[in-house]
Amino acid sequence: MLNPELIRRDFPILQQKVNGKPLIYFDNAATSQKPRQVIDALAHYYTSMNANVHRGVHFLAEKATEAFEETRQAVAQMINAPAKEQIIFTRGTTESINLVAASYGRNFIGEGDEIIISTMEHHSNIVPWQMLCLEKKAVLKVLPINDAGELLMEEYRQMLSTRTKLVAVMHVSNALGTVNPVSEIIRLAHEQGAKVLIDGAQAVPHYLVDVQALDVDFYAFSAHKMYGPTGMGILYGKRDLLEAMPPYMGGGEMIKEVRFNGTTYNDIPYKFEAGTPNIADVVAMKAAIDYMQGIGQQAIAQHEQNLLQYAVDSISSVPGIRLVGTAKQKASVLSFLIEGVHPMDVGMLLDAKGIAVRTGNHCAMPLMERLGIPGTVRASFAVYNTEAEIDTFAKELRRAADILL
Ligand code: PMP
Repeated sequence: MLNPELIRRDFPILQQKVNGKPLIYFDNAATSQKPRQVIDALAHYYTSMNANVHRGVHFLAEKATEAFEETRQAVAQMINAPAKEQIIFTRGTTESINLVAASYGRNFIGEGDEIIISTMEHHSNIVPWQMLCLEKKAVLKVLPINDAGELLMEEYRQMLSTRTKLVAVMHVSNALGTVNPVSEIIRLAHEQGAKVLIDGAQAVPHYLVDVQALDVDFYAFSAHKMYGPTGMGILYGKRDLLEAMPPYMGGGEMIKEVRFNGTTYNDIPYKFEAGTPNIADVVAMKAAIDYMQGIGQQAIAQHEQNLLQYAVDSISSVPGIRLVGTAKQKASVLSFLIEGVHPMDVGMLLDAKGIAVRTGNHCAMPLMERLGIPGTVRASFAVYNTEAEIDTFAKELRRAADILL
């Protein structure tokens, strides 16, 4: 069993008071806090090895390049990618998905081809496909959900056909916590010859993900939701697909040779990493991976699962409470409403007590429309959260309900 009280000591930001109360940070699905190890790695990079990567022959350039590539190796190992060249560094999940839409999409998806997404997607996994469909006259199909927030798999089977070229769905819902049956989704898509992109932004922080076991074609996620720095993300892709895809952006690093009568492109992954990358944050990301692996990803998952169950039990008797998202398989995301009360009012009363939750549509407007609600209050848990924090949260939520109802 991990000890969250000990873990909390690694997170300087958690030691502060907000509105005179100890900070309770329950907005982890938006971004997690960073341990001292990651903050130190960032400072260490700038104080000891800052240089541009892959270009210089001098000491610092080699040191920075080595640290940069070590992160690629660590990411590959973490998600069980066959080779580190299949790990592309981006700014985040959003850029990873846009890269696939702009490069794979523009070149391998055409008029009349179909792309399947789901009702519960984050805007990042909706808008790039809408843009592509507009440009290519392809057809965007939306897989519906039930009232618990689960994908309707029978409908999925019926939507799939040889016209389906791509399926793009989330692994774990940021708004509801639903864990989707991605293995099955991928297997069924492959039977029809379609490729699959999984938005793993909310999965990698909580679960061990194995891209080879999943047999997934593209997998996207962000460092900042898994105790790592902002501005750094990952796209994993199958080698043959990445090699067949043209570059996403042109510039330095992504070329082999530039001539005015033609340019040859670099190999993967560099073909997709034009310009000076976010070196410092990539280097610091290795510390975040080491941190999670040091605690144990299974232990983190178990702790968060316990917190979710504890939180569900703790708030179930709050007057007017309605849980939003009651899938059988759920990650540590607790979305709810107090009937008749605007989520923002609940969020503001909790903030006055030092409790940070998210309110609103969680970048999932079509999902909120489907559920017929303006948004939810969302508490999402991480490795450093405790049952004592949930006790305070439940008490303050009850007080808020008394005031607002
Ligand atoms: N997909 C999901 C499921 C998310 O939760 C988020 C972040 N809220 C994103 C995509 C976008 O991630 P980023 O902002 O790091 O690009």
